[in-house]
Amino acid sequence: MSLDKDIRDQLVATIRRFVDERLIPAESTVAESDAMPEALVDAMRELGLFGLSIAEEYGGLGLTMEEEALVILELGRAAPAFRSMIATNVGIGSQGIALDGTPEQKARYLPRLASGALIGSFALTEPEVGSDAGSVRTSARKDGDTYVLNGTKRFITNAPVAGLFTVMARTDPAQKGARGVSAFAVEAGTPGLSVGKPEHKMGQQGAHVADVVFQECRIPASALIGGVEGMGFKTAMKVLDKGRLHIAAACTGLAERIIDDMVDYATGRQQFGRPISEFQLLQAMFADSHAEAYAARSMVLDAARRRDAGEDVSVEAASAKMFASEMVGRVADRNVQVHGGNGYIRDYRAEQLFRDARLFRIYEGTTQIQQGIIAREMIRRRAV
Ligand SMILES: Cc1cc2nc3c(=O)[nH]c(=O)nc-3n(C[C@H](O)[C@H](O)[C@H](O)COP(=O)(O)OP(=O)(O)OC[C@H]3O[C@@H](n4cnc5c(N)ncnc54)[C@H](O)[C@@H]3O)c2cc1C
Repeated sequence: MSLDKDIRDQLVATIRRFVDERLIPAESTVAESDAMPEALVDAMRELGLFGLSIAEEYGGLGLTMEEEALVILELGRAAPAFRSMIATNVGIGSQGIALDGTPEQKARYLPRLASGALIGSFALTEPEVGSDAGSVRTSARKDGDTYVLNGTKRFITNAPVAGLFTVMARTDPAQKGARGVSAFAVEAGTPGLSVGKPEHKMGQQGAHVADVVFQECRIPASALIGGVEGMGFKTAMKVLDKGRLHIAAACTGLAERIIDDMVDYATGRQQFGRPISEFQLLQAMFADSHAEAYAARSMVLDAARRRDAGEDVSVEAASAKMFASEMVGRVADRNVQVHGGNGYIRDYRAEQLFRDARLFRIYEGTTQIQQGIIAREMIRRRAV
């Protein structure tokens, strides 16, 4: 059910104020300390950000895709490490359970994921398994009324702070592809589960990724999401389009903020006796950036509305993710150029946001994987 327009506008305005007054001013501290202040995480909890997509009956806001996109367009204006904090609770960490979980799993996890009391983490990638996500090697061996997990997951966002891991593991060793893979809800602190040291990343300091290692990690059979083996990927696929639109909205929000920074800097900086914003070569960069960000916003909102109307948006979501993530890379690069030497210096946000934006083209399906999805579907449609 969608929100009343006034309430929706109020929600979007509240997030915008929060970003301007609390998150953007904290960016340099978070980047330098590589830590997320608990007071800000608490404020995100209070705003309901962890529960954007979780149904109201479980304490979430139960937003439609369009509403979620509007919120993320605002939240995305702050350095991406902040959005990263809530991403799994809003995405696969809760939606897998919400769509296919058993009533017990929903009751046990959704209220705490919605409030942010529990931080979720999604563990799919492995050292030898990245884009080819269906070839997961981590095994889940059935043993009585338990499963025993063995394997290593790599680059798992929020692993050091997570209370709950959605883990993709192979339950059927005879099935080499995605059909042999199941999803499990695994609680932090389970014996045999350990989290490695956070990686040193190029950007997005304050958000942490680490290995998650399972060594004879025994979990109850009731941790199998949905209670049926081999459904892990089917469950993940259902929320994939949503995740891609969410990322596309985050990229677009960040691009819009960077464009504001670019114009502000150029109007304040003088060369040759006038503001550099008066030079047409810089104006071309503003105009290209604006048009591209506007195109991305239009794509995100159109695809979100179509998804809310029940349409299959796999091509639109992949297109939006690909375009918006590439677009924010170009915009962040132009911003460094507009800042001149200052753009290369850490004291200015241009340098940080350039590094932060780079990740969007890599995770949640690389640009090449999105291209494959789009092209395959184009060919299939022409063949029928
Ligand atoms: C900071 C960060 C956070 C992350 N968070 C998570 C997380 O929370 N949970 C999680 O499970 N994973 C996470 N990941 C992992 C991320 O999703 C993968 O890194 C990504 O999917 C790419 O996989 P890979 O690194 O193994 O690269 P590879 O799959 O080895 O790809 C290398 C290159 O080959 C290209 N390529 C691969 N296959 C094809 C193909 N068929 N056609 C054309 N080109 C191809 C890719 O596009 C890429 O350019 C994170 C990664 C990072 C860096």
